[in-house]
Amino acid sequence: MGEYAIRKSDNTEIKIGTLEDMYYLRFEDRDKVTHKPGNVDPVRDACELRFRLPFPDEDNTPIGQYGNHTRGQRLYKPTLDAQGKVTGHEDFTDEETAQNAGIIQLHHDCGLLLNVPCYHGARLPEMGDRVAHWNGKSWFLELYQLRPAMVDGVLRILPVVHCRFCGEAWRYKWSDVLDYIPEPLRSRLAVYADIQVAA
Ligand SMILES: [Zn+2]
Repeated sequence: MGEYAIRKSDNTEIKIGTLEDMYYLRFEDRDKVTHKPGNVDPVRDACELRFRLPFPDEDNTPIGQYGNHTRGQRLYKPTLDAQGKVTGHEDFTDEETAQNAGIIQLHHDCGLLLNVPCYHGARLPEMGDRVAHWNGKSWFLELYQLRPAMVDGVLRILPVVHCRFCGEAWRYKWSDVLDYIPEPLRSRLAVYADIQVAA
């Protein structure tokens, strides 16, 4: 169900998201819209919602008019040799995500469609007597949303990581992912890692 609000800057009705997913609204902008009756209130209901990441290259995009509504941020950090020279990069992975398998569909031009479990890159799906292989493996986990939550009576803004292929999502601690967030987004999000945010 679409969620709508009034953008205060020009008094225009905009779509801010679907159910609890604020695809078109950043946490920091939640009070720049006016609640519309019958829709979520992004200020009052903040702890029940998940917000769009504040991508710096979207700073000039009006609230509600962002492009890719499920845009995420690849999580990776450079790998260094003994001299400190960058030799490549390492994607964020987490073996424990395999405990929550998702589903992805594989299709073939002959018309065959196959549902297989997605272990989010941690391991391959079981194929009975056959063996699955990687062939040009891509990254699976992305930083996806910001999730306000009351932790020990304090409002914290936590990172949500999802599998970009099957959609399974998990809440993490900033210390798990911050080093994998490339700049300039990392600096912007680092403020949420240490401080509490006024409700
Ligand atoms: Zn997955």
